Amino acid sequence: MEKLVIIGNGPAGSTAAIYAARAGLKPLVFAGNIPGGLLTQTGDVENFPGFPNGVNGFDLVMDIQFQAEKFGAFFEYEQITDVALTPGGPHTLKVSDGRTIDCQALIIASGAIPRRLDIPGEDRLYGNGVSACATCDGAFYKDVPVVVAGGGDSAMEEALFLTRFASEVHLIHRRDQLRASLIMAERAKQHPKIKFHLNTLITEIVGDSKVSGVRILDREFNKESLLPCSAVFTALGHTPSSKLFHDAGVETDIAGFIVLKNNTSCTNISGVFAAGDCADPRYRQAIVAAGMGARAAMDAEKFLADAE
Ligand code: NDP
Repeated sequence: MEKLVIIGNGPAGSTAAIYAARAGLKPLVFAGNIPGGLLTQTGDVENFPGFPNGVNGFDLVMDIQFQAEKFGAFFEYEQITDVALTPGGPHTLKVSDGRTIDCQALIIASGAIPRRLDIPGEDRLYGNGVSACATCDGAFYKDVPVVVAGGGDSAMEEALFLTRFASEVHLIHRRDQLRASLIMAERAKQHPKIKFHLNTLITEIVGDSKVSGVRILDREFNKESLLPCSAVFTALGHTPSSKLFHDAGVETDIAGFIVLKNNTSCTNISGVFAAGDCADPRYRQAIVAAGMGARAAMDAEKFLADAE
């Protein structure tokens, strides 16, 4: 029987592993849906404290993992394919290689997956002008036009943030009605650098080795055109990787984010904790995920100590 299993090895899972390993719990960590988490798919990270010259996202994730391994955490790149959760434990996990593992406590740090446009050029140019995080990558696009895709609060927020750097921000939304709250939408509409393209589809992202434009379709006039830009920021919402746990009884909100209880990392099932983007509908930043991981490890440690 394992004392503590952590699912996900992004900043949340690996930071939880550092704290749990230093507490002598010898945590066993399984990679989530995206091994290393979303940070491995960004280029340089310039807003993680302690790195005044920025740090490569993949390097950062690996360093957090090495730090955890140094204290006795064990990482496996297999996936967890099924879970059976019992309040107070033990919990039973099925591993993709066929094993079954029991654990007393579980930390879910399985992340969230940004929704994609699913159009030609998006995958090929991801990391070379296509990004799902303006906070992470916006500063790389100074004095050039950029595109934001989406019509929700995130799209408004990202568009406003990007006005600090870009020469102009084209906000492209598939419907003629925005989903964003009135106040956010008004703020974006009043900004001189933001140009709205409503009822407009992005049909292709173009560029050889980096983004040079988007092909768009004005649905009202059925008119196609090429809009030059240096970056496309998708702000289409996130899908938390929580279905497996929801199906096993973990409470999630309507969008699938795991619900945390009483300002802790505890879920509705005793002995099951959650951290990072799978439980964070709002911030979704590496530093926040790392902090949530630390909290989850401390909550798990207390749970295990109380159970002894
Ligand atoms: P939302 O789900 O609210 O919005 C996603 C947007 O992306 C929608 O406009 C949707 O279009 C569009 N979209 C989704 N899939 C596609 C696709 N395949 N092609 C084109 N467009 C697509 O996500 P957000 O991340 O904006 O917000 C999530 C939550 O966080 C919300 O509750 C929001 O209020 C909150 N939030 C609050 C903020 C604040 O208060 N400061 C800041 C950011 C987020 P459609 O409208 O047609 O469905």
